[in-house]
Amino acid sequence: MPRRQCPFCYHQWSRPEKIRVHLLDYHREVLSDEFLQGIHAARGQALVAYLDDYQVRVLLQNVLSIPLFTSENAGYVVQL
Ligand SMILES: [Zn+2]
Repeated sequence: MPRRQCPFCYHQWSRPEKIRVHLLDYHREVLSDEFLQGIHAARGQALVAYLDDYQVRVLLQNVLSIPLFTSENAGYVVQL
């Protein structure tokens, strides 16, 4: 499994159970209730997919705060 990066810092991880512990230990105070429920409910690949989805949403929020729409990201915006 390729190494991935924590959504909130430069921590690298490769096992879903490790990132769950890391998120709760280091970032609990900034996590929303919805996100906490999401990472508690998801296991294994489902947790990886949940985090990937979360990262896309954060990325889009950052993008959307700037009035910058391109044909590349238009499809993602519609899917939300
Ligand atoms: Zn982190």
